[in-house]
Amino acid sequence: LDGVEAVEIAISAPKVHRKLVAIGSGKGGVGKSTMTANLAAALAKKGVKVGVIDADIYGPSQPTLLNAHAKPEARDKQLIPVTSPSGVKLLSVGQLVEAGTALAWRGPMASGALNQLVEGDWGDTEVLLVDLPPGTGDVQLSLVQKAKPAGALVISTPQDLSLIDATRAIDLFEKVGVPVLGLVENMAGYRCPHCGEESDPFGSGGAQASAKELGVPFLGRLPLSASLREASDAGRPPASEDGPAGDAFATLADALMS
Ligand code: ADP
Repeated sequence: LDGVEAVEIAISAPKVHRKLVAIGSGKGGVGKSTMTANLAAALAKKGVKVGVIDADIYGPSQPTLLNAHAKPEARDKQLIPVTSPSGVKLLSVGQLVEAGTALAWRGPMASGALNQLVEGDWGDTEVLLVDLPPGTGDVQLSLVQKAKPAGALVISTPQDLSLIDATRAIDLFEKVGVPVLGLVENMAGYRCPHCGEESDPFGSGGAQASAKELGVPFLGRLPLSASLREASDAGRPPASEDGPAGDAFATLADALMS
């Protein structure tokens, strides 16, 4: 088939024992990257040595979310992660190409870039979060099979369309023997800043019900929040600050580490 290629990712086994956690979603735009950046910031705030691999080759947003745009230096052909102001080490395809450049990569090029990120000089990093591209295609499958994460988190909105795709992502992880650590519901509920009225633009409770049905832990929900969006866009993950968002992500970080 034209345009379809096998993706081969040759990642050698990590030399140091560290916990690698994949963050996936069935659909794009559900907040997977925002969640990854904040979870990493929450772990860093707790004193955990944490790194993020931004494997979202088609929409690498971690350099913006973590404010770590510098081009990584290389030593002995190994990329050195860039440390964000919140103390998270980051390697992203977004750091390797000009901002705004379309990553029209075929399979082999994408897998070559992902190899470089996974085999970067992660030093004494204890937890490595991998922000996967959305979906359940070849790139995700190869990366998960080769990098062998200790577990996976799946992010979904409460909307049925998102949950159907999240179910596919859970199925993919289970098929390749990666335990699903839990499902997190994002954009769950909105409180109007003017009148205080609460509404559910994407529905409510769907992820919890799906998690129960699928037999995976439900780890919690995060509301739709303009301040979370603004802080994230500005490269200041709210999880690294004190406050309700900081507390929520600290709880999620604890669940991840337990
Ligand atoms: P994904 O990685 O799943 O594609 P992103 O993390 O890039 O999703 O989020 C998509 C958009 O939604 C971004 O503009 C982000 O700032 C916004 N967003 C994510 N989570 C929330 C939230 N809880 N409240 C408000 N905006 C959010």
